[in-house]
Amino acid sequence: MSGDTCVIEMRRAGLTYPGPPPVAALKPCDLVVRKGEFVTIVGPSGSGKSTFLNIAGLLDSPTEGHYLLDGIDTGTLSDPDRSALRGRRIGFVFQAFHLMPHRTAVDNVALSMVYAGAGRKDRVRAAGEALERVGLSHRMNAVPTTLSGGERQRVAIARALAARPSLLLCDEPTGNLDSATAATIMGLLEALHSDGMTVLVITHDPAVAERGMRTLSIRDGMLSEGGV
Ligand code: ADP
Ligand code: MG
Repeated sequence: MSGDTCVIEMRRAGLTYPGPPPVAALKPCDLVVRKGEFVTIVGPSGSGKSTFLNIAGLLDSPTEGHYLLDGIDTGTLSDPDRSALRGRRIGFVFQAFHLMPHRTAVDNVALSMVYAGAGRKDRVRAAGEALERVGLSHRMNAVPTTLSGGERQRVAIARALAARPSLLLCDEPTGNLDSATAATIMGLLEALHSDGMTVLVITHDPAVAERGMRTLSIRDGMLSEGGV
């Protein structure tokens, strides 16, 4: 069922951490996410959400089955090729923002593109565009300590978008935010989805999960279609 519209395709993909004792964190699962979908995955703490996201984001490899990203069977790639694919195709957003505290917003975004090989001028221009897209053009030169939590997460989203990935993977993106700010961040992700971005959000919060066009749940490492 692979084809150029499949961004994520898992075929009986699962991961058991070796331990001891071994932990079957993701039981073999089948999943197709098509270009332009906005998918949320909800599950309690320890259910395997980050394990799933780490596989989808090429930070970890399934110990069984296959994972195809944009139709590419990632199991056949060398480590450098996996890293290059990850850098080009995937933007990550995490709960804890992970911004460099002494760098401005625009530097945080521009520095993320150093490894993509672009020159400084192009990086700063792309960073400015990404910050504009998340509604932060007026705070480009602010350092993270002077930004609110919601603004910090916007910078992190701009950083994830700057290299124009095909997939935005968000692990508990609202986990450090109050519920009103969380709602505005979900609104931003919805707007990016409307622009054509493929977005996958992982959360333990059912209110966040229901903002997705499609919701999956995960429980004890078992992924299934539908919310909680
Ligand atoms: P979630 O993100 O839903 O909280 P995780 O994917 O982080 O869950 O973890 C799923 C299960 O795998 C948990 O039981 C966790 O303790 C276990 N686990 C996570 N990472 C490792 C690891 N590196 N080694 C062994 N077990 C792990
Ligand atoms: Mg987690």
